[in-house]
Amino acid sequence: MAFRIGVIGGGQLARMMVPPAVHLGVDIRVLAEQEGSSARLAATAVGDYHDVDTVLAFARDVDVVTFDHEHVPQRVLHALVEAGVAVHPSPGALAVAQDKLVMRERLTALGLPVPAWAAVHDAAELAAFLGEHGGRAVVKTPRGGYDGKGVRVVSGADEADDWFAVVAEQGDGGALLVEELVEFRRELAQLVARRTSGQVEAWSLVETVQRDGVCAEVTAPAPGAEPVLQREAEAIARRVAESLGVTGVLAVELFETVDGRLLVNELAMRPHNTGHWSIDGAVTSQFEQHLRAVLDLPLGDPAPHRPWSVMVNVLGGPAEGTMAERLPAIMLAQPGAKVHDYGKEPRPGRKVGHVTTTGDDLADVRSRARAAVRFFED
Ligand code: ADP
Repeated sequence: MAFRIGVIGGGQLARMMVPPAVHLGVDIRVLAEQEGSSARLAATAVGDYHDVDTVLAFARDVDVVTFDHEHVPQRVLHALVEAGVAVHPSPGALAVAQDKLVMRERLTALGLPVPAWAAVHDAAELAAFLGEHGGRAVVKTPRGGYDGKGVRVVSGADEADDWFAVVAEQGDGGALLVEELVEFRRELAQLVARRTSGQVEAWSLVETVQRDGVCAEVTAPAPGAEPVLQREAEAIARRVAESLGVTGVLAVELFETVDGRLLVNELAMRPHNTGHWSIDGAVTSQFEQHLRAVLDLPLGDPAPHRPWSVMVNVLGGPAEGTMAERLPAIMLAQPGAKVHDYGKEPRPGRKVGHVTTTGDDLADVRSRARAAVRFFED
């Protein structure tokens, strides 16, 4: 009998779990938010993941439930666990990824390096933090932010009043997260996967470039990263995975500061944009590894095929028409480029696909990936 896996959320992450599920003979089913989702090929149900009955009905015929995103409410997650469903990552681990204040508290308690931070409830508390940190800081809404939404650089204590009003209404403590504005040399990400019985495997440390808070480009491995930096990043990610009991893929977003330190920015407990290169660039992709990890199967080899992989996101997509219409021209110009179309409607800034190239020469690999993506962007 096949392993059966249920994914909550029908975005591109669920979509990209489908090919390895097919290869491994895993029966994959997706609970999508709406018809026509990116993961529609595997969407056996359409419904609201906030609704306990909908999610319980979906979970009835699978061995393990996992996720395309971190937004499933704790009460729904606990209802699944109480009904005897195997949920990976667990509600307890996900709670840390769902709330940036909880995340900062846990990482600090583990003694891991994070930017200076505080929970602030009003403009006066924000003013105090600004006073201690050079007059500028980054304010974040603890919940529901993604792709830079819910992140704001402020230089005045009144610049977060609208968000204070929103969190005060939500009534769960009413705090925002404020952090020092980190002077970073670059952003990095370390991905690992942890099997439910404990095995952990790590991919190469990667460099990520964000534009307007959105991941634009990823280079694997991070150019010029000394072995000591790679070891440190891997040790941080392993520590997080093991201490929080994360199962499946864990992404740890990091800042490399101008003075060479690593600071943890964010955690994601699912396959992550900074790991998409691994589909074409590694022996075992993050999507295959996620399936193995949550099914408690032995993990695959995360080694890269080639010295360099570069992944560039297609953000927005063509101003007119679809990605598919541009494919023949790209295929002709770049037979080595691996194109991934998420089957989503083009919309300004939206992640609608990505291209990965691999090879021996970084400059060449990078320029080919960028050139391929330009075909989609005019
Ligand atoms: P999201 O949850 O929307 O991805 P993040 O917390 O990862 O939000 O922040 C998005 C981007 O904003 C980061 O990738 C980074 O470029 C920038 N950023 C976030 N926090 C800080 C900080 N403390 N200092 C400097 N830049 C930051």
